[in-house]
Amino acid sequence: MRRSRAFIPTTKEVPSDATLPSHQFLVRGGFINQQGAGLYNYLPLGKIVLEKIRRIVKDELDKAGCNEVQLSFVTPIGLWDTSGRAETMGKEMLRIKDRHDNDFVLSPTNEEAMVALVKNRVKSYKDLPVNLYQINTKFRDEARPRYGLMRGREFLMKDGYSFHSSTEDMVREFELMESTYKKIFTRLGLDFRVVEADSGAIGGSGSKEFHVLADSGEDTLMVCESCDYGANIETIFEDEAEVDALNEKSYEELVALDTAKKCSCGSDLFFKKGIEVGHIFQLGTNYSQALDAKFNDENGKPKAFEMATFGIGVSRLVASVIEQNHDESGCIWTKETAPYMVNIMISNIKDSEQSELGEKLYKELQNENVEVILDDRKDRFGFKMKDAELIGFPYTIIIGKELANGAVQIYDRRTTEKTSVNIDEVFSKVMELVK
Ligand code: ATP
Ligand code: MG
Repeated sequence: MRRSRAFIPTTKEVPSDATLPSHQFLVRGGFINQQGAGLYNYLPLGKIVLEKIRRIVKDELDKAGCNEVQLSFVTPIGLWDTSGRAETMGKEMLRIKDRHDNDFVLSPTNEEAMVALVKNRVKSYKDLPVNLYQINTKFRDEARPRYGLMRGREFLMKDGYSFHSSTEDMVREFELMESTYKKIFTRLGLDFRVVEADSGAIGGSGSKEFHVLADSGEDTLMVCESCDYGANIETIFEDEAEVDALNEKSYEELVALDTAKKCSCGSDLFFKKGIEVGHIFQLGTNYSQALDAKFNDENGKPKAFEMATFGIGVSRLVASVIEQNHDESGCIWTKETAPYMVNIMISNIKDSEQSELGEKLYKELQNENVEVILDDRKDRFGFKMKDAELIGFPYTIIIGKELANGAVQIYDRRTTEKTSVNIDEVFSKVMELVK
């Protein structure tokens, strides 16, 4: 991509309600823009990052044997009446009417619709297990949409649902999804923790959440420093007011609190703040029974499906990467999430030698399928450099004054170090860095 042709409207202006770095930098860097409360447009850079995350999620799920589908975003209210959730979902579920006065909802989640899809299509124990997922728009009329992509009203979620002939098989799939989620968040380059969680309005027994650790996280966790154990405080403190009070506290306050709690290995638990990016539940037969979804077991007897459900906040992940990876100048993307790996900066576009080298490297890197952007704009060097820092390309090749000595500089966004490289070696050096 040539920067002169790209639609990347960067700005110095910080949205008045943007308190989190991810919210500020994603808007300022021209990744997203707000359409209304909790409603966001993805501009070209934001769309690239979103798609990269979607692809990693899909890749790992497909490898684990899941099937991707895409359900209608609008669902008839009848399904929700049958499960009883038309009552319990409350105002978060947005209801709409069509011209014939029929009631529908904008999907906040899709247990009912998935059960309806499988019902009467998966008939025998021989067809089980089956795990279906989609990466699709959700709408939740959140009471307090805030923090940019963190808590939107319209957002992108991966929601998966598995169907089994026995509890044991459902638990096996739950564990498989736990390890698959770990692979996904590791590939994304995130520092995360798996914690015991409350099952909330969706209902069910075993439930685990995946949290990206960040001081700005809305959730409070207690984690063991010696072993893997961690829990959302919702599972530790019974009093809801106490949980809310702890969630309101900032990380610095929290760390000062004395924690007498111990866990499984006997060591002390520590408070951490986390951003919930994934949630897996063992549902049992709640939904299959409510919606009368059965299969024939080995003895030909009808039995309700054992189910589990698995969510990932795909759009929330875009913000989570930045919440964990930024500095005062802007975004620092991880290798798997960067919108472009390499930015070639022609410092002075009027200098034909600089331009020629920039164009040459641009073609060479493109030929190697390196995701590269060429900053061929007429603007000043300082302005272009600030833009590159704000957007957060992992590497910028600066073609500038050093060219007179046969050298360019490679700027590493994470370390902010600039290294001089001979022009004969720059291509191989960059290839080494992006591998
Ligand atoms: P939260 O506690 O943050 O409100 P939740 O527990 O209601 O989330 P789930 O029903 O578990 O959410 O949904 C699966 C995933 O979808 C969550 O783990 C989260 O990453 C993401 N998610 C939920 N609500 C939102 C939202 N309003 N905006 C962006 N992502 C969201
Ligand atoms: Mg959840």
